[in-house]
Amino acid sequence: MKVLVLGFGPAGSSVAIASPNDIEIYLYDVLERPRSFCAGGLTIWDIREIEGYGPQFKKAINKATMTYAKEAEILGKSKKARIYINAKDHKLKSLGVIINRRIFDLVLLKEALKRNNVEVLKTRLDQRKYDVVVDARGMSSLPKLPDDDIELVAQAYVDVGYLEPKLAITFWKDLSKTGYFWEFPEVKSGILKVGFGMSLKEFRKRRVDMRKILEKYMVRRGISGKIVEYKVGRLPLTKPKLEYLYQGMFKVGTSACLVDPLTGAGIRYAIRSGFMLARSGFRKDRYLNDMKETVELFGKRYRIKKILWQMPQSLVDKSLEALEKQFNILIDKIDPAEFPQSWLLKNFY
Ligand SMILES: Cc1cc2nc3c(=O)[nH]c(=O)nc-3n(C[C@H](O)[C@H](O)[C@H](O)COP(=O)(O)OP(=O)(O)OC[C@H]3O[C@@H](n4cnc5c(N)ncnc54)[C@H](O)[C@@H]3O)c2cc1C
Repeated sequence: MKVLVLGFGPAGSSVAIASPNDIEIYLYDVLERPRSFCAGGLTIWDIREIEGYGPQFKKAINKATMTYAKEAEILGKSKKARIYINAKDHKLKSLGVIINRRIFDLVLLKEALKRNNVEVLKTRLDQRKYDVVVDARGMSSLPKLPDDDIELVAQAYVDVGYLEPKLAITFWKDLSKTGYFWEFPEVKSGILKVGFGMSLKEFRKRRVDMRKILEKYMVRRGISGKIVEYKVGRLPLTKPKLEYLYQGMFKVGTSACLVDPLTGAGIRYAIRSGFMLARSGFRKDRYLNDMKETVELFGKRYRIKKILWQMPQSLVDKSLEALEKQFNILIDKIDPAEFPQSWLLKNFY
């Protein structure tokens, strides 16, 4: 069987790494090397799962690790809304790692290419020559979703020098009525990734200048340094459906909307889906069946996102009980260890 894999981010490379020996895998990417932009956060639960897929994945995490995030803070407008969580208080060694995505993706690709059945194509060949096509093209192949289901993400790479291994997630509604900010440090390189995400629908309505908003955020947070890179992209802001996994071709990772609508995290799901597809031997029924549980899990998480996204500032500030209640309902259903971000949010006040 000949399989063409379009895109070699984590999803595409995972397909190749986990593919059976007797299947020929041809990888093709529009770029010379993977260049996805990403905050690079992997929780300790993400790491456990990813490492479980084999030594190649463990190697990628080890080589690409920039820092261990030991602390996280969630900031709101009022003083009351400020929280500060130290991982040690919660008997966790660390909240997770921040990886350099370029290194991570390259290590995975190199590991894939060590296999005899895997080859990189220099030019895209006629798709009809292949028995199966896998779409791992990430954000550029998102299914035609309504604007409301797309998150517009802007991320600046700021050279600030010395950094603390601390993450921050911020909701300051006076800077932007909807959306949120994040700070993910790459301690070893002294680069702070400062991001801002909002729904595409809101963006079209308000016509905001995302870069200006990010710059205002940086001033408020006292972040000074040169912006060495600035990128804008899209992420799915909706729960994936089973039918997104197969639309005339197999879909893995972001192209199947496998990104957590609350946290934006998707590396784990990119690898999981790539691995599952290869393990299914590229059989549609088996792949859909193996991914069913994953897709169902997203449904529960989606509710949290909706709550946060639509919540007016007065609710964030005042209706703490309601918020707590909402999260408790969800946390009852989800093992908190499976969803550290909801655990952070549960401790919001
Ligand atoms: C700002 C931001 C922050 C994020 N933060 C996190 C985080 O902290 N933690 C986390 O887990 N996830 C995070 N994510 C999500 C994560 O980046 C994605 O879930 C992950 O990269 C998905 O992997 P993928 O292989 O599906 O797609 P990608 O990594 O996007 O790879 C797709 C590949 O396809 C290639 N390609 C595109 N078009 C074509 C084409 N026509 N033909 C061939 N190849 C093509 C691209 O060049 C690329 O190499 C973040 C995303 C963004 C945008």
